[in-house]
Amino acid sequence: MKTIFGPVNSRRFGTSLGIDLSPALKQCNFDCLYCELAPAQPVIRQQQTVDVDTIMTELAEALKRHSDIDDITLTANGEPTLYPHLDRLIEHIDAIKGDTRTLILTNSATLVDPDTFNILLRLDQVKLSLDAVTPEVFKKIDRPAPGIRIDTIVDAVRRFSSAYKGDLYLEILFVHGINDSDDEIAALDAVLRTLVCKRIDIGTIDRPPAYPVQGLSYGELHTIAGKFDTDLPIHIASRTHAESCRSSYSENEIVNTLDKRPLTMDDMQLLFDTPTMERLKKLIDTGKIVTETGSGIPFYLPAGNLHRKRQKNT
Ligand code: SF4
Repeated sequence: MKTIFGPVNSRRFGTSLGIDLSPALKQCNFDCLYCELAPAQPVIRQQQTVDVDTIMTELAEALKRHSDIDDITLTANGEPTLYPHLDRLIEHIDAIKGDTRTLILTNSATLVDPDTFNILLRLDQVKLSLDAVTPEVFKKIDRPAPGIRIDTIVDAVRRFSSAYKGDLYLEILFVHGINDSDDEIAALDAVLRTLVCKRIDIGTIDRPPAYPVQGLSYGELHTIAGKFDTDLPIHIASRTHAESCRSSYSENEIVNTLDKRPLTMDDMQLLFDTPTMERLKKLIDTGKIVTETGSGIPFYLPAGNLHRKRQKNT
């Protein structure tokens, strides 16, 4: 069974080789409404497991063929932290990875387990999903295995955020009518303000979902982004239906918009029409708009506002 895929180029994480820790079937402790895999009963441990030697042989071959890799990403058809040999696998990867950085994409649920918590501390980068923080909405969107509770997950995410020395990313996936209410966004905002992380990616359904649910437009995601604390490093990661919301902004409106919420060039190209992009260029050329790159992606904001973007405490 092939466990290595890629390289995949991502604007957010560079060039990455992926390791699929559940290549044969979906094995996850959630059964999210929006999952791009088919619906499946959630499980709390893997029933089918690949051995570490097989993964390492395939990884070594792939690294020989691709010398320009930025990241080795641990992922799965399901939840990668359910892989029972994660500890040993990371040890082996660390021994051969050189300058390449490790990254794991997890739904955060197993952080409540002290062993998994400590294993993830050893990775260079961790991306935690957190789609909801109230029990009702969490159960509705993520459909976890029995016994998994969002209050203990949030507590573990908080502890992890203060203990972790690497680059921590958060991800929230919004589903129309499920976790996009003002109350849920306020509850998420209250939790996110207690965390230290490099970037918070917000997105929506980009691929056919497991269940009949709908995503949000780029404009709706932009509105949601505006409801979070302006100091949070929110990044709109989804480009679905983006073309419909380009409009005209005066120079003052550009400055005010970026003052409220710094944006990436991609975001601005989706929000601003052509004359507005010309006004923006003038503001950049004259130094009134500058960039800040602490989150790994350049964000544009008014000069003098650089202090407003939170920096990772290391
Ligand atoms: S956590 Fe990921 S793999 Fe698991 S059900 Fe949700 S979207 Fe699918």
